[in-house]
Amino acid sequence: MSTFQAPKGTYDLIPPASATYLAVREALAAPLRRAGYGYVETPGFEHTELFARGVGESTDIVTKEMFTLTTKGGTELALRPEGTASVLRSALENSLHKLGNLPVKLWYSGSYYRYERPQKGRYRHFSQVGAEAIGAEDPALDAELIILAVDAYKSLGLRNFRLLLNSLGDKECRPAYRAALQDFLRALDLDDETRRRIEINPLRVLDDKRAEVQKQLTGAPLMRDHLCEACKAYHEQVRELLTAAGVAFEDDDKLVRGLDYYTRTTFEFVHDGLGSQSAVGGGGRYDGLSEMIGGPALPSVGWALGVDRTVLALEAEGVELELPAATQVYAVPLGEEARRTLFSLVTELRREGVAADFAFGGKGLKNAMKSANRSGARFALVAGERDLAGGVVQLKDLESGEQSPVALDAVVAELGRRLG
Ligand code: AMP
Repeated sequence: MSTFQAPKGTYDLIPPASATYLAVREALAAPLRRAGYGYVETPGFEHTELFARGVGESTDIVTKEMFTLTTKGGTELALRPEGTASVLRSALENSLHKLGNLPVKLWYSGSYYRYERPQKGRYRHFSQVGAEAIGAEDPALDAELIILAVDAYKSLGLRNFRLLLNSLGDKECRPAYRAALQDFLRALDLDDETRRRIEINPLRVLDDKRAEVQKQLTGAPLMRDHLCEACKAYHEQVRELLTAAGVAFEDDDKLVRGLDYYTRTTFEFVHDGLGSQSAVGGGGRYDGLSEMIGGPALPSVGWALGVDRTVLALEAEGVELELPAATQVYAVPLGEEARRTLFSLVTELRREGVAADFAFGGKGLKNAMKSANRSGARFALVAGERDLAGGVVQLKDLESGEQSPVALDAVVAELGRRLG
């Protein structure tokens, strides 16, 4: 072991498990690519103020969980704890919303950082695939994003996930609800920090996981009973579109999520095999966020799906992804001439699209065959001086153990045929 270890709350992705991780990332993004979302990549850090304003001064993410730093020039930066604020910042800065084609649909994938108490499924460095549809208020857009997430999970073979759905109202109806909720909460027996939360963001008290708090929340006023006509109709349309698409959901009146920017549609995907860190993804509508960070009114909706937890959910369900073989053909040269010949063959195979590897480091036959088997290759190409003198290499099927000579100039075609 080296002197150093990965920092607390982080882990390395190493082969072969990393291949699953990569495949999950690709599967989560695939439905978005088919639905007109363009790829966006923003920096790993932003001005701290963007998250303070965008994610919300009262959220755990901003108050407790950001990795912040001051540059030598005195600029306050934070490693990104989430994607939405950055992507919206980028869309505004690059005037994507002025190109006349709203909504601007973007997807992204990358690392996010939160200073959290690490446990299984909760890390300080984790990975998300996200999507944002910026600049349109249309229940079909909310439904589209939810359906794309469901399709992504299903394409991986996940079954035991549930979709929780709620509406948080808008600037018309939320203030009155907020006041009613505050009145209710102020009368409860709560600690000082929660009391402060009542004044800053009372909705988040509903999300408190502690049993002693939840017990007191029975009878709390619910947003559902305070939605204005427009929000009610909007939410009903989202629900109808989901139902028509065969997407099952559970209405969850207390789903508020940990970020301040959400309005109307809010949703979360939970997986029942994950214990306490059960949220595999979530999102919602954020109609006021653009104005909060200095942009024009741009009603928008988006989600982020956690890659790490999706991998854990697959493990919990015992789903093994069918991944393309890392190596299909492994070449084992015996002697100098064979090294040159097989090395050229391997290059040629790779150029033909075959995943091929080579016994590097001058290994003897026994060791090289061990490596061939460990590589997972289906075929080995073995050649010594006598084979080359006869113009052939030995093609060995590592599954059946059968071996036969193949003419040098026919090897690539023969392997192509056998590998289909
Ligand atoms: P959020 O922005 O908190 O809604 O996060 C969206 C998704 O990212 C969650 O549903 C999780 O799957 C994942 N996620 C958030 N925080 C973490 C973390 N600390 N470790 C691993 N995954 C996370």
